[in-house]
Amino acid sequence: MKCPRCDSENTRTMVKSPVGDVWEVYVCEVCWYSWRSTENPVVLPKFKLTEESIAALGVIPPIPPLDV
Ligand SMILES: [Zn+2]
Repeated sequence: MKCPRCDSENTRTMVKSPVGDVWEVYVCEVCWYSWRSTENPVVLPKFKLTEESIAALGVIPPIPPLDV
């Protein structure tokens, strides 16, 4: 199964519905996008991610240096 946002195949089932077997929630281990099996997410092109764009993302807020 492919991640709808970054097209990675590196996805797994995060949780299953607590009652019955109604839905599952999948999560992408590359960009942490998650979605439910009952929805059919479509990510707009401007919100799509690639591994390169994830690597280029800054950390917000910046992590201050440790006082050693
Ligand atoms: Zn992803």
